[in-house]
Amino acid sequence: MHITDIIRGNSPTFSFEFFPPKTPKAAETVYQTIRDLELYMPHFVSVTYGAGGSTRDLTHDLVERIQHTTKLEPIPHLTCVCHKEDEIEEILLRYAKSAIGNILALGGDRPAGIAYDKSRDSFQHAIDLVKFIRRFNESGAHPDRRGFGIGVAGFAEGHPATPNRVVEMDYFKTKVDAGADYIVTQLFFDNRDFLDFRERCALNEIHIPIIAGIMPITSISGLKRIAELAGGARFPAKLLRALQHCQNDPEMVRRVGIQYALEQCRDLLDNNVAGIHFYTLNRSDATRVIVDRLGIPRRQNAQTASV
Ligand SMILES: Cc1cc2nc3c(=O)[nH]c(=O)nc-3n(C[C@H](O)[C@H](O)[C@H](O)COP(=O)(O)OP(=O)(O)OC[C@H]3O[C@@H](n4cnc5c(N)ncnc54)[C@H](O)[C@@H]3O)c2cc1C
Repeated sequence: MHITDIIRGNSPTFSFEFFPPKTPKAAETVYQTIRDLELYMPHFVSVTYGAGGSTRDLTHDLVERIQHTTKLEPIPHLTCVCHKEDEIEEILLRYAKSAIGNILALGGDRPAGIAYDKSRDSFQHAIDLVKFIRRFNESGAHPDRRGFGIGVAGFAEGHPATPNRVVEMDYFKTKVDAGADYIVTQLFFDNRDFLDFRERCALNEIHIPIIAGIMPITSISGLKRIAELAGGARFPAKLLRALQHCQNDPEMVRRVGIQYALEQCRDLLDNNVAGIHFYTLNRSDATRVIVDRLGIPRRQNAQTASV
C-alpha cells in the first residue's frame, strides 16, 4: 500500500525496523520477533540495507518473505553505496513485481573494511536516488499508478557530514522537494531536538509527515554501540544519570532504558507526532513493553505470520 494511504487517517502510525539476519540462528530470532510484533499490526515494518556484499540479497529475501507470508507492509531501505543505475533499476523492478508499495531512499553508510570510492557510485546523494525512483514511477512498471511511495531520512540532531545546519537544511529541503512522501528520523534521546527539527522543516515549507525514530536502550554495551553507529547521537545527562545509578544491574538498566523511551513516546504523542518508528534491533521484548504501556491494542485474532 502506498505510504500516503497508510498514513492518511492512521496518524500516529507505529512501525518497526529489522535488519536482515546473517545466520540461521539470527534468522530464527528475527522471524520470532516478526511473529511477536505482527500481533500489534504495525502500519509498516522496514528492513535495512547493508553497506555492500551478500547481506543485500538478504534484505530482498526478508522483504519478499514478509510481503508474501505475513499481513505486514514491508518497506525496504535502498542506498546509493556501491550501486550503478542499472542495478538499482533491477531492484526496483523486482520490488514492483512483488507489489512492494514503498522504499526508503538513503545515502547509505560507508562500507567497513573494503576500499570504497564514492565517486564510482551512480548516485552521490539520496536526492539522486529519490529522483531516479520518481522517474521509475513514471515508467508505469509499478502496479500502483503512483509508483513507489518514497521515504527519506531526517536527522533531528543534524547529520555529522554537514556541520553547517543552514546548508544542511537547504540540502534536505531539495531532497524532500525532489519527491519524498515522508521522513523517518535518526534515533534521538531528547524530544526537543525532534520538535525543533519539525519546526525548522515547517519554516522551510516541508510539510510531509515526519516519523520519529526511537530506540530503547537495553544495556550499557548497547548504548556504546549506538554511540558508535549513530555517530553524533546526543545522550542527555538525564538519561546518563539514570543509567549510571544502575550500571551494574543489567535488569535495572533495561528497565530504565525502556521507561525513558516510553516517556519519549508519550511526550511525542502529546505533541501530535505523525508516527513512531521503533528500531527493534531484531528483538521484540523492549518494543512490546513500550507499545503495551502506550495502550496500543494487540490484535489477538489477527492471522499471524508463517515466516
Ligand atoms: C531512518 C534511517 C534509516 C537508515 N537505514 C540505513 C540502511 O538501511 N543502510 C545504510 O547503509 N544506512 C542507513 N541509514 C544511515 C544513512 O544512510 C547514513 O546516515 C547516511 O550518511 C545519510 O543518509 P541520507 O539518506 O540522509 O543521505 P543524504 O541525503 O545523501 O545526506 C548525506 C550527507 O550529505 C549531505 N548532502 C546532501 N546533498 C548534498 C550535496 N548536494 N552536496 C554536498 N552534501 C550533500 C547531507 O547534508 C548529509 O550530510 C539510515 C539512516 C536513517 C536515519
